[in-house]
Amino acid sequence: MKKTATYDVLVIGAGPAGLSFARALADTELNICLLERQVESVLAAPPPDGRDIALTHDSMRLMRELDMWAHIPRNEISPIRQARVFSGTSSYFLGFDTKGTGKDALGVLVPNNEIRRAAYNAVKKFRNVTIRGKAEVKKVSTGDVHGTIMLANGEKLTAPLIVAADSRFSSARTQMGIPVSLKDFGRAAIVCRMAHDKPHGEIARECFFDDWTLAVLPLQGRQSSIVITLPADQAGDVMAMAPKAFDERIEESFGATLGRLKLVGEKFMYPLVATYASDFAARRFALMGDAAVGMHPVTAHGYNLGLAGADMLAGEIRNALSLGIDIGAPSVLEAYALKHRRASAFLFYGTNALVNVYTDNRPAALMLRAAGLRIANHLPPFKKYVTRQLTGKAA
Ligand SMILES: Cc1cc2nc3c(=O)[nH]c(=O)nc-3n(C[C@H](O)[C@H](O)[C@H](O)COP(=O)(O)OP(=O)(O)OC[C@H]3O[C@@H](n4cnc5c(N)ncnc54)[C@H](O)[C@@H]3O)c2cc1C
Repeated sequence: MKKTATYDVLVIGAGPAGLSFARALADTELNICLLERQVESVLAAPPPDGRDIALTHDSMRLMRELDMWAHIPRNEISPIRQARVFSGTSSYFLGFDTKGTGKDALGVLVPNNEIRRAAYNAVKKFRNVTIRGKAEVKKVSTGDVHGTIMLANGEKLTAPLIVAADSRFSSARTQMGIPVSLKDFGRAAIVCRMAHDKPHGEIARECFFDDWTLAVLPLQGRQSSIVITLPADQAGDVMAMAPKAFDERIEESFGATLGRLKLVGEKFMYPLVATYASDFAARRFALMGDAAVGMHPVTAHGYNLGLAGADMLAGEIRNALSLGIDIGAPSVLEAYALKHRRASAFLFYGTNALVNVYTDNRPAALMLRAAGLRIANHLPPFKKYVTRQLTGKAA
C-alpha cells in the first residue's frame, strides 16, 4: 500500500489557469501540488495549438505581477490598436479604439503555448510548488477536514483545499456533484495563421456572415491570426481543404483589405461548447479557469477570466493566512465564488446572447443584426463598457 502524500493545496490541471493560480500562491508558506495528466516535458515546451489569446490590460498587469510576462518573447506580443466588427461584406463597421482610455492599445495577442510556457517557467523555480506530470486524477472527494484525490496509478493525496482547473469538461466538477449549465452551439472554431501582402495596421477585424464568422487578428509583421466559427458539420470540409483552396475561400470572404492571403502552418479545430458551473465552490473545493467558466471564444475572455479568478482565489487565501483562518473554510471559498460570479456572469450570458443573434437566420435576428452595429456605434455606454473590459478599470 502506497503512503498518502499530504499538501496544503492540490490543484488538478496545469493548464494556464492552474499554473497561474499556483504561481499566485507560490510565495506563501503553502505546500502546493499541481497534478497534470500531460508529461512535464510538454508543460515545459508546449507545442503551438493555433490559439492566439487576446489579453486585456488587467491580464497583462497580473502576468507582470506573477513574473510570467518576462518569460514571453517580445516578438510574440502583438498589440491591437483598434477593433472593427462588420456584418457580412458591408464596409460599415462598429469600431473600438483607445480614445479616452490613456492606453495605446486595446489589448495584445499572445500565443496560448507561450502563455502556458511562461506560467510553467514562473512556477517551477519555487520549491514549495510540486508539478507532477503524468498524474491523471481519477477520483476526488472532500470531507470536513480535508479533500482526497486518487490518481490513476493508485496513489492517494490529501489537502485541506482542492482546486480543480481541469478544463470546461471538468470531471472533478462532476464528481463533486456541481451541476453545470452547458451550451453546445453545434459549431466549431478553426484557427490558423495567414500571411498577407498588405499591412493590417494593428486592427482586429471580425466579420459576421449568415452562418459563420471570420476574425482576422493582427500579429507582428504581415501575419494575422484567423478564427473561423462555423456549423460543426461543415468544419471537417474546411479542415480538409488544400492550402490554396483555403486561401481563396478566405480572400473571397474577407475582400481585398489585406491583399493576397496565404496559410502559414497548420489549422486547428475546437468544438464550441460554453459551460458555466452552478457553483464555483463546495466543501474544501473550488473551481478555477474553464472548469468554472468555459466561454465561447468570440469575445476573447476565457483566459482573461481564468486569470482574474486565479487572482481572486489567491487573494482570499492570502487574506485567510494573514488572519490565521483555515484556507479551505466555507467563508474563504464562498467569498471567492461570489466575486468571480459577479465578474463573469454578465460576460458569459452576454456573449452567448451575442452568438445567438449572429448565428440565428430567422427574420427577427437578421433585422436585429442589420440594425445592431449602427445602434451600438451610437451607444456610448455600450462602447465604453466593451472598451473598459479590454483596457481596464481606468478607461
Ligand atoms: C479557439 C479559441 C480561442 C480562444 N481565444 C481566447 C482569447 O482570445 N482570449 C482569452 O482570454 N481566452 C481565449 N480562449 C480561451 C482560453 O484558451 C481558455 O480559457 C484557457 O486555455 C483555459 O485554461 P484552463 O487552464 O482553465 O483549461 P485547459 O487549458 O483546458 O487546461 C486544463 C488542464 O487540465 C488537465 N486535466 C484535465 N483533466 C485532468 C485529470 N483528470 N487529471 C489531470 N489533469 C487533467 C489537462 O490536461 C489540461 O492541461 C480561446 C479558446 C479557444 C478554443
